[in-house]
Amino acid sequence: MTDITLHPHRDFSVLHRHPWIFSGAIARIDGTPEPGEPVRVLSAEGEVLGIGAFSPSSQIRVRMWTFGDKQAVDEAFVRDRVARAVGGRAIFIAEDQTNAYRLVNAEADGVPGLIADRYGDWIVCQFTAAGAERWKREIVSALQAFSPCRGVYERSDVDVREHEGLPPLTGVLAGEPPPERIEIVENGCRYLVDVRAGHKTGFYLDQRDSRETVKRYANGCDVLNAFSYTGGFGIAAVAAGAASVIHVDLSEPALELAKSNTALNTCHVDESSFIQGNVFEVLRKFRDEGRSFDLVVLDPPKFAESKGSLMKAARGYKDINLLGIKLLRPGGLLATFSCSGLMTPDLFHKVVSDAAVDAKRDIQVIKRLQQAEDHPEGLCFPEGLYLKGLLCRAW
Ligand code: SAH
Repeated sequence: MTDITLHPHRDFSVLHRHPWIFSGAIARIDGTPEPGEPVRVLSAEGEVLGIGAFSPSSQIRVRMWTFGDKQAVDEAFVRDRVARAVGGRAIFIAEDQTNAYRLVNAEADGVPGLIADRYGDWIVCQFTAAGAERWKREIVSALQAFSPCRGVYERSDVDVREHEGLPPLTGVLAGEPPPERIEIVENGCRYLVDVRAGHKTGFYLDQRDSRETVKRYANGCDVLNAFSYTGGFGIAAVAAGAASVIHVDLSEPALELAKSNTALNTCHVDESSFIQGNVFEVLRKFRDEGRSFDLVVLDPPKFAESKGSLMKAARGYKDINLLGIKLLRPGGLLATFSCSGLMTPDLFHKVVSDAAVDAKRDIQVIKRLQQAEDHPEGLCFPEGLYLKGLLCRAW
């Protein structure tokens, strides 16, 4: 195995079990490891810090598989990591209210660069780093062994693969191809998922817990579901007794699926309307028309892609929250989110409070929200907490 030696004083993060080693921390590579090959990481003093996956083209040059000098990284190791991750989801397997959940959450599950989501009888995977890519065959076989399914489908059509020197890939990895739409159940609500062309692996599984929270408050509400995608929050709200819902999204296919999902849940269709448009514009129009709601959900896409765009993103979040707050009746609820990893919970809190100041409203935080429990965050890997939200009441 190739040895990689770090510069003096650059071992701090590895010693603190952070899985990423940036190229600038590396002093010497004794060999020419292939993409994804396991490499041994040493401190400047020669202490073995662990084994990671080498990625020659990424700024994140090594992603740690294991820390210390005890374990070998081989097929048995990778299998064990998958078993460990899947075992942690037994809570979902045991219940019959939800059959779509994340099986493996990348770094936080000790398998850097691997996302594996279960949708009914299928598993959908994303390989976003050279290390996971190298062990693809073993990972797929382990997923089949520990979470038996009809087929495993790949959705590695994500931009981040470019940084790893990997091409986009999609297709069947094992078993049967998935149907055009997979019907899933989430806490009793049914949704159709397009795992081939939908966002992420098909559905925003990370919002499951927050959809459940919103349900508790939705009875009797007029709901505005902004950035609705395929209906998620709004359909859950109507199932929980909301009086009406307006879904707003830019994407026509997403709204088409939102309509099908509405019908699937036997929500009265006349309680639901669907607007294809830009949320910023639609909300401004609603404000100008004097419309108001009891519950506004704001679940925008990632506004901040890089540190350089963070301040611009913050302005976008503030604008949208200001508009959302203005549409709330007294006592109305705002469920607002940011899935930009760069936007810390503190900064997000500040942005929403700045919006409250501009809106001249008294606002309470009822609950802090975050990605669902099948999307754990590595305790020593804060980058893993990307989705945060606030459930607020405005007076
Ligand atoms: N809340 C959803 C997930 C939302 S993902 C759920 O629970 O499933 C973000 C959505 O915002 C995507 O569907 C995307 O099409 C949409 N979107 C992005 N920018 C938008 C804009 N400016 N106006 C309206 N929709 C937008």
